[in-house]
Amino acid sequence: MNPKKERHYFFLNPYQDMSFTRCPKCDGLTRIRKFCLLIHVEPKTMFSLNKSCKYCSLCDLIITKQTEIEQNLAFICEHKSLDIIGNKHLVLGTIDRKDWKIGKTCKLSPPEAIECFYPFKDVLRFRVEPAGWYHATNKDE
Ligand SMILES: [Zn+2]
Repeated sequence: MNPKKERHYFFLNPYQDMSFTRCPKCDGLTRIRKFCLLIHVEPKTMFSLNKSCKYCSLCDLIITKQTEIEQNLAFICEHKSLDIIGNKHLVLGTIDRKDWKIGKTCKLSPPEAIECFYPFKDVLRFRVEPAGWYHATNKDE
């Protein structure tokens, strides 16, 4: 097991048109902050990605768009001629910037990555209800 403490809550934003300038949990304003995310791409590749994310300091919640992660991964894969574009991926946690710099390249060996990453405390999901979209009668169905 990873002996390190868990850090941050995480929300992978599946909505293209929602940027979450307000926190979905507390409704406070989010800020932009850079995090080094550790991402596992199937079958067995680990990437670190230094990325600007929305962050609510009150909730310790990192929000990032799924499409942006995908675009970043596609770019790295193309750049490094890796044949894993479009593979299933999972954001595992964050790593320290100093570890990211030591790693230098974006690709980490899985043991290295596991060694230095901080798992998320929890991965949250928020669903945006389209307001005024449903007929009132649907409620009783
Ligand atoms: Zn919040």
